[in-house]
Amino acid sequence: MDDSRDMFGDTPPWDDKEEEAPAPTQAELEEAGQASMFGEPEPVAAPSAPVPEPEPAPEPKATPEPRETTAVEKKAAAAPSSASTGAPAQPYRVLARKYRPQTFAELIGQEAMVQTLANAIKRDRLAHAFLMTGVRGVGKTSTARLIAKALNCIGPDGQGGPTIDPCGQCEPCQAIAEGRHIDVIEMDAASHTGVDDVREIIEAVRYAAVSARYKIYIIDEVHMLSRNAFNALLKTLEEPPAHVKFLFATTEVDKLPVTVLSRCQRFDLRRIPAPMLAEHFAKVCGLEGVEAEDEALAMVAAAAEGSVRDGLSILDQAIAHADLDGEGQVRAEKVRDMLGLSDKSVQRSLITAILDGKGGELLELVARQFALGVEPIAIMRGLMTLVHRIAVAQVAGGAHDAHSAEEREAIEGWAKALKAGQVHRIWQLLLKGHEEVKSAPDPLVAVQMALLRIMHASDMPDPGSLVKKLEELAARAPAPAPAGGAEGASPSGAPAAVAPPAITAAMVTRRWEELVEDVEHMGELSTANTMRMQVRVVELGASLLRYAQPPGFSEDITALLRACLTKATGERWEVYKVSEEGAPALMPTLVEQAEAKKTAESDAVNQHPLVLATKAAFPQAEVIEDDRPLAVGGGGRNWRR
Ligand SMILES: [Zn+2]
Repeated sequence: MDDSRDMFGDTPPWDDKEEEAPAPTQAELEEAGQASMFGEPEPVAAPSAPVPEPEPAPEPKATPEPRETTAVEKKAAAAPSSASTGAPAQPYRVLARKYRPQTFAELIGQEAMVQTLANAIKRDRLAHAFLMTGVRGVGKTSTARLIAKALNCIGPDGQGGPTIDPCGQCEPCQAIAEGRHIDVIEMDAASHTGVDDVREIIEAVRYAAVSARYKIYIIDEVHMLSRNAFNALLKTLEEPPAHVKFLFATTEVDKLPVTVLSRCQRFDLRRIPAPMLAEHFAKVCGLEGVEAEDEALAMVAAAAEGSVRDGLSILDQAIAHADLDGEGQVRAEKVRDMLGLSDKSVQRSLITAILDGKGGELLELVARQFALGVEPIAIMRGLMTLVHRIAVAQVAGGAHDAHSAEEREAIEGWAKALKAGQVHRIWQLLLKGHEEVKSAPDPLVAVQMALLRIMHASDMPDPGSLVKKLEELAARAPAPAPAGGAEGASPSGAPAAVAPPAITAAMVTRRWEELVEDVEHMGELSTANTMRMQVRVVELGASLLRYAQPPGFSEDITALLRACLTKATGERWEVYKVSEEGAPALMPTLVEQAEAKKTAESDAVNQHPLVLATKAAFPQAEVIEDDRPLAVGGGGRNWRR
């Protein structure tokens, strides 16, 4: 930095000026009320408080405006939002732009960074390159511009040096705020990734700043630069001319080469906590002359996920909606409607439509949400949250965090009705859809396609019923599994002796399965298991059962079967146990059938059209064995991606 002092030899060293330079600036700020705008926790709604426009009006003014004008201007700015009928006094600017911080005091939630920077400026220990990191919308680019101002501000009297409190009034401050300063070059690495773009910079770096103290390069999304571009940049970063500063901003700091990282002073911008955001939005509403319920602002803040910019965009929408309703007040209920997905009931309707395979309803719900201003990505995010909660409810045994009775009921209902595998499959598909929506040129179309895909996937038979279908097919086949004969797992070889007409066996098996299910649905789980394990049907009439027990079972279950079948069907059943010597069984027990098929079928499963189709849809899918006991789990297989 010493050489920079040489360059600006006529400028006194900053340390000497430090006592006087910030003083008037601070006073100016106080007078202008800027510090009270964002710097203090008290609400700003007081209409008498004079508040300047945070961003200069279209025509740059070189001098600070008198209070009266400012107040009038503020009213004018507020008018289009507070009264929808009145003709806007000036073109509407989105809040995120209008309230882009113009001083470090306005930059909320980044006190630590500002303090560090202030110290660096005070001690004249500024790095040549700064790196701002953080999620989108936390203020990286704003910070970069503020630093540019801080370094180049000359104060209202044109005598100031670098300061943490740029005056906002001098020519450099105004030019930078409007993005038209000739020595502050902003570049988006996302669109200028090549080595040529960087060469251009490097060439220009050699020339001194035209009018400012420092020539400043702001490179946004710097991680997007190509490797060659980085290499080219590196030389300049190693020994930059004293009059040059680089300000990098990135959301993905991991992608930066260490060589670049090590040459930057790094500032990690924090996600802004929701309460702080809510407070900030309250102030903005005050400045805009818009009334807003605290709860509404809290919702907006939660939806913003730590990003001021996102939050202000949502607030913009909320105010527009409030205007449409003619109420002019941002109310919690309306915001809930608008965010749509905080309106949990819409999320639930979406899941219901997906699970019921109602594509028309699904698309209509999405379209309605979109019309209400809900971002497609927010739809996906909301659904993911809901599915996550269903999964948690399955593990925790209930939706304990539900906000309403309906919500709890719905989540617990799904937690019971859906298998864990199904929930995970939907989650995977949502995650995939989320990525697509993020990158798709038309997010609305992407969200529709993604949800339809999930609907069709959940329409596909789940693994359990897929196997059941296959078992039916196999049972109808001329030589059903029992012909496989001497399966080791089966308690006996008896089924091999049975050769009834295949069609009868299949019908009997199906009817018996239905009866078992009926019994199971009554809550007689252990009887149902007994029916699966111990009953070889010899004869099955309308209300008549003759059965044999496989070897190894001697318990008398006749009375139990009679009672349960009678209860399940509402008819009086006659049940007899017979020996298979007299009349061979029509079918082996359900468990025997399942076990016999288990091995023989894995090939069949893999060749089944449904499986092939599924595999085409999910290339990484594989059929795996289900370890659960057949009698308990209902047998079959599970799917995993
Ligand atoms: Zn200035």
